[in-house]
Amino acid sequence: MRPSDEAILAAVEDGFEDEVAFLSELVAIPSQRGEEQAAQDRFARACRERGYPTEVWPIDLDLIRHHPGFSPATIPYDNVVNVVATHRPREETGRSLILNGHMDVVPTGPASMWTTPPYEPRREGDWLYGRGAADMKAGLAANLAALDALRRLGLQPAATVYIQSVSEEECTGNGALACMARGYTADAAIIPEPEDDKLVRANTGVLWFEVRVEGRPVHVREAGAGANAIEATYKVIAALRRLEADWNTRAADHPYFEGVDHPINFNVGKIEGGDWASSVPSWCTIDCRIAIYPGTPAAEAAREIEAAVAAAARDDAFLSNTPPKITWNGFYAEGYVLPEGTEAEATLARAHRAAHGRDLETFVTPGYLDARVFVIYQGIPCLVYGPVSEAIHGFDERVSLSSVKRVTGAIALFIADWCGVEPLK
Ligand code: ZN
Repeated sequence: MRPSDEAILAAVEDGFEDEVAFLSELVAIPSQRGEEQAAQDRFARACRERGYPTEVWPIDLDLIRHHPGFSPATIPYDNVVNVVATHRPREETGRSLILNGHMDVVPTGPASMWTTPPYEPRREGDWLYGRGAADMKAGLAANLAALDALRRLGLQPAATVYIQSVSEEECTGNGALACMARGYTADAAIIPEPEDDKLVRANTGVLWFEVRVEGRPVHVREAGAGANAIEATYKVIAALRRLEADWNTRAADHPYFEGVDHPINFNVGKIEGGDWASSVPSWCTIDCRIAIYPGTPAAEAAREIEAAVAAAARDDAFLSNTPPKITWNGFYAEGYVLPEGTEAEATLARAHRAAHGRDLETFVTPGYLDARVFVIYQGIPCLVYGPVSEAIHGFDERVSLSSVKRVTGAIALFIADWCGVEPLK
């Protein structure tokens, strides 16, 4: 019943121009935070055209608010939607699967820094350029295209497959958490994030927070008497840099992180403060992001950050009178380790070898991934594995199309082996 690897890979090849066209369509629909709806609707339409019953629904905060994996939400979720399409087999003989991806993309930054506009997909040689082309609309397109390849051969998975396109991956992870809370689970999951044709073995968690410093404003001629909130904030940043350095010295205590150079990255992503040039600034806020090791609960890391800032404030004449205020305003998420030796990983390794002609490599990543929702809270293997890319959160983001094709082939082979196949309904 199962066609040869060659036949499945040829079916991927046959559909590849359609896959690139769909990917380009998705890239052309901006889907930054809070604006995912149009792109999600397009994805839902693609699912329905293929006959999959498809749900589109806003993230329900009440269902996830008290979950340990919940991150504080700072925007209303009324228009922040997830899409889940469902394939049901004629007979459930194989293992079920979730094909997940996220539709939200990160901000573009100044458009003038891009060679061509970020939401005008541009194909040049092996590369497709555009915000979200790699992270991760290519993965969303690959998930559908892998199923399409089987359809082209007159086949479908012999097990339930959920095709998920979530929101909020780049800032909270609440989209994937909401899918779980709604009852979607399976025997394994794949997330084709742009991982350079490799499988993620371990991944840090991420915390987001704002620090606000407030002081007494005076005229600049009396600046000696006033407290400069912007300059005081430098001291808070320095304290957080020291915490980052300390956490990096602990890499050896964390399996898979021993050999990673600087796994813990602290970033001041945004700064605002003051009112105009001739007043000593009375306020300053910074938006920060820091990584945490798997196994460290978000709340434990948060306490350590609060203690570090409080200690720095105690040593400073101004800050000790007006302690900086920390607000947790996004990611509050643990990292994860994908257990070794699962059948899902062995199945992907075989599929990868057939599609790429070489062995599957695993590696450790220092950013947030939704896989933690599957691995930590559902106990299922989640394979984060996807195409070669460059500049995913920068300018001129691009994805390698030959890599997208190979990854799509590997996913199609994985489905055939993991779920099994049966004749198309
Ligand atoms: Zn991503």
